[in-house]
Amino acid sequence: MPEPLNANTPIEFLKGIGPKRAEAFAEDLGIRTCGDLLFHLPFRYEDRTRFHRVAECVPGPVQVQLRGTIHKVNEVKQKRGSRLEAEFTDEHGDKLPLVWFKGVQWVARNLPVGKPCVLWGRVSDYKGGRNMAHPEVLSMAEARSDSALHPVYSSSERLGRFGLNSTGIAKAVQRLIEGLRKLHGAGWIEETLPSEILAMRGMPGLATALEQVHQPADSNAERLGRFRLKFEEFLFLQLLLVQHRNRQTQDLPGAAFINVGAAFNRFYKERIPFELTGAQKRVIREIREDTRNGRHMNRLLQGDVGSGKTMVALLTALLAVDNGCQACIMAPTEILAQQHLASFREMLGDLPVRVELLTGSVKTADRRPILEGLAEGAVHLLVGTHAVLEPKVVFHNLGLVVIDEQHRFGVAQRARLWNKAKVPPHILVMTATPIPRTLSMTVYGDLDVSVIDELPPGRKPIRTVHRTDAQRLGVFGFMREQIAEGRQIYVVYPLIEESAQLDHKDLMDGYESLTRHFPPPEFRISIVHGRMKPEDKDAEMQRFANGTTQIMVATTVIEVGVNVPNASVMVIESAQRFGLSQLHQLRGRVGRGANQSFCILMSDKELGNEARRRLETMCRTQDGFEIAEVDLELRGPGDLMGTKQSGVLDLKIADLIKDRALLEDARDIARRILKEDPELNKPARALLRVGVERLRASRPYWSRIS
Ligand code: ADP
Ligand code: MG
Repeated sequence: MPEPLNANTPIEFLKGIGPKRAEAFAEDLGIRTCGDLLFHLPFRYEDRTRFHRVAECVPGPVQVQLRGTIHKVNEVKQKRGSRLEAEFTDEHGDKLPLVWFKGVQWVARNLPVGKPCVLWGRVSDYKGGRNMAHPEVLSMAEARSDSALHPVYSSSERLGRFGLNSTGIAKAVQRLIEGLRKLHGAGWIEETLPSEILAMRGMPGLATALEQVHQPADSNAERLGRFRLKFEEFLFLQLLLVQHRNRQTQDLPGAAFINVGAAFNRFYKERIPFELTGAQKRVIREIREDTRNGRHMNRLLQGDVGSGKTMVALLTALLAVDNGCQACIMAPTEILAQQHLASFREMLGDLPVRVELLTGSVKTADRRPILEGLAEGAVHLLVGTHAVLEPKVVFHNLGLVVIDEQHRFGVAQRARLWNKAKVPPHILVMTATPIPRTLSMTVYGDLDVSVIDELPPGRKPIRTVHRTDAQRLGVFGFMREQIAEGRQIYVVYPLIEESAQLDHKDLMDGYESLTRHFPPPEFRISIVHGRMKPEDKDAEMQRFANGTTQIMVATTVIEVGVNVPNASVMVIESAQRFGLSQLHQLRGRVGRGANQSFCILMSDKELGNEARRRLETMCRTQDGFEIAEVDLELRGPGDLMGTKQSGVLDLKIADLIKDRALLEDARDIARRILKEDPELNKPARALLRVGVERLRASRPYWSRIS
């Protein structure tokens, strides 16, 4: 061994490990050093305070603990290899056969035959009686030194063959900690958190925390130790994220929106037909703070469906215009872009602000004047889809980009927009998919987050019910009543890429069935689906929007953004196939006018647990954040917002969902520290700097998250 045992010592040199076991450790569990082993934490604990009697043991999955002696050890040759049999007698004289199929030689050598020992394992049915296969065997001394909470570690089959099953690992960890303590004393591992931080939350030092987690005296000690380790993981992650964001915004200039001028003021005073909600005003103030000082804004605006994000976008765009800049608002779909254009033009009225539309379906001849106007600066506000990303689209002075319904836009697209201006345009990303706050803080560590947490006044809660196909006639009757009252209705079908063919057929079948139950001339039905030409889709949307048709049958193309206040009923077919956030988005299409609105979730009678939970949640609440939490719980954060690719959530100890309060706490502390000491230069922060740099080095992709 080149130097005394420490956390960096390769695991191979730990007593009893050697090269072969070290290789298995590395390949199966990613454990290479003694430090890695120390951070391989137990995933649960077994209560070993109680002993069972053989007589009372029933076969089953529950582990039992027995005290007694082993004898009559016998190796039985089999076709391949051999098995080991033995007999166990407990203190009351009751007997239980034991058997091993793996690691027979090793077990045979190590069994404490004839001596009092403790067994731990499951009892199975065996040839009309019972036995116990592969029990864990502890000498009395080992059992006594074993704490009440016995740690259980993940292992692998190969490691198990080397005697490194959960118990083997526990022993190795114990040996390691003892060895280190003998060499270095109570602080046997280098501390990684400054005492200032430990004191803040009354946390134990690293050595104590690791002892408490690996060999807990009781569950309180275990919790405290684990708390400290989780906190540390979150703290370094947040320090890294916040520092990354600070550096970016410091370095980057953005257009300074110093003036609030004619466009903004006239629009605000003369054109807005309603009072802004408190939340809208607050968000505008936040944006104004961001943009007035010549620093670059990178802000995420979260607001539930219908909370009035578009108005915030438009006001921000007018702020840009007042400061000699152009603004671009990007929508995820053609229909939504067109709707934005129409509503902007209507709202702006005769104000001297030129708004144009650029989407894939704008014809070349119509494009030319728009492109020229953009290059000259005559077009103030461009509304568009991905088409605005094309190299041909050149701005005179682009100062702001608003990205609506962010989940369809990736980081790469954001980057392409940057290249369209001399200084990077301010970015406002708007999303109606509420991301739980804790998660967005971690995933979008680089974005500031604003939240519109208030709906415009007068919105009535949407009544949501779940109906099965057997109740369809009743639903049709209800639809007829609503139409008689002058309301309009959406009927939405799922469209999943993998089953697109079948889904399309369902949609068309449904449409036909509806036309039978709602025949012309009394009823008129629109249909919109992905196989229609954009102009046909638009014409149909238009017919529905202006009230010509009463029912709109569609796939999820209407999911995002369309605004038809007279529509009061949303029927969602095969609702069990939609995700929660999609259901919530769809429901948000109704309830925009003065009338009581309804959402009817149609499904089969038979539902899986998760589907049932989704539909129940929808019927119970309309709070987008609550729904997002349930969604997260059901699906896990894995794929949310492309987090998988970004690798941000590579947590080892803490759990983003369960430990979110802790995450927030760590975030606040990270912010406070960096505000006062941005580069962690103070001597008392030296440990923090070391930890952050280590993390940064381990995540080279970090710089790509912008
Ligand atoms: P979303 O946040 O889903 O994009 P929109 O911006 O489309 O919501 O707004 C939904 C509807 O609410 C629109 O018809 C809009 O004109 C209206 N609206 C927005 N702000 C207010 C307000 N402060 N008071 C009343 N109605 C509002
Ligand atoms: Mg919107």
